[in-house]
Amino acid sequence: MADFLYRSTRGQASELDFLGAATAGLATDGGLYLPKTWPQFSPAQIGSWQSAPYHAIAEQVLEPLVGDAMPVAVLERCISQGLARFADPAITPLRQIDDRTWLLELFHGPTLAFKDVALPFLGQIFDYALGKQQRRATIVGATSGDTGSAAIAGCAGCANLDVFILYPHGGPSAIQRRQMTAVAAPNVHVIAVEGSFDECQAIVKALFNDPQQRAALNLTAVNSINWARIAAQIVYYFVAAVRLGAPAVAPSFVVPTGNFGNIFAGFAALQMGLPIAKLAAATNRNDAVHRFMSQGVIAPQPMQASLSPSMDIQVPSNLERLLFLLTGGGGAAVRDIMAARDLRVSQQALGKARQYFTSAAVDDAQTLQTMRATYAATGIILDPHTAVGVAAAHEIVASAAVDEL
Ligand SMILES: *Cc1c(COP(=O)(O)O)cnc(C)c1O
Repeated sequence: MADFLYRSTRGQASELDFLGAATAGLATDGGLYLPKTWPQFSPAQIGSWQSAPYHAIAEQVLEPLVGDAMPVAVLERCISQGLARFADPAITPLRQIDDRTWLLELFHGPTLAFKDVALPFLGQIFDYALGKQQRRATIVGATSGDTGSAAIAGCAGCANLDVFILYPHGGPSAIQRRQMTAVAAPNVHVIAVEGSFDECQAIVKALFNDPQQRAALNLTAVNSINWARIAAQIVYYFVAAVRLGAPAVAPSFVVPTGNFGNIFAGFAALQMGLPIAKLAAATNRNDAVHRFMSQGVIAPQPMQASLSPSMDIQVPSNLERLLFLLTGGGGAAVRDIMAARDLRVSQQALGKARQYFTSAAVDDAQTLQTMRATYAATGIILDPHTAVGVAAAHEIVASAAVDEL
């Protein structure tokens, strides 16, 4: 297999292979890594996965994205270790809630957060890459709950990684606090800060902004701009679609969206040949992505706390990957858009985005109403993030977009 390379969305960093892009996280020019070309799967190949287990589909989807960066046997080991602690043999089972809506359950991992689908895989990839280079790295992160627990579960016991997670004292729920503080691995360090999440974040940023510290500790982040996380998430779009009858059927996916990472993985699957009718971004009242998909401009506004805190984001970092693809892909256009801060694209680029994407914003009252109605109709208790997705799905189906879906 030829070397498979990744380039930065800002066009000024060197191209890297899969392991390089994964361990770098952010590119040196401030951009995010994207494959130079998209691997392609034919309808026949996709059809042949209909009854294949999750692991087998993951290997097929990830192999061309990894290219020569590591041997297939190592990739297989990273996948199986990454999924080892999932409680459901289907990994991401589908559950039907009405005649045209299914829930894609992404919560069967060790910390019950959907980040578990990618973070343990990322931990394995890091550990392998660092071992090969005979280096150690230090992961530092601030968390209000979800990402910290999943990062710890993913990296606990990795030989070449130290993990430091800061959280606001009294902030996370009791379960999430225990998920973080009751891990006995010697490479995991959890610090309760007497302060807010923003103050935790400020400490982490200060560490990253100190070049000496950064180099001495080989600091790295595992947030959702990391390409290896997106790559791991591409897999369940293929798995879900083939279970629903792809390639003969082209499902739509409604994705509760914060940093635009999960839904971008769906867009990547589409670029790789998976038939998807529409990708719908569901936001809470922090509706940056909805504004972008409706008007082509974000013009960031102050963040407002909602019932779905993992989606309380005003500048979705992974949108930059889509901007790169919409603007023709040299990097200069992305640099201009990001420098302008209001994140505005041309009507032509917006038109392109709307061929693939639609969106809806859901407020807290609708979220609660959807949780109540879904429980009454099915006995299923939705978490508020999922409820935003279900409410958006109903809204989009009820609107003129029905035929498109
Ligand atoms: C992280 C998270 C999200 C947001 O996902 P993005 O990839 O950032 O768009 C949504 N819901 C839950 C429950 C999450 O943990």
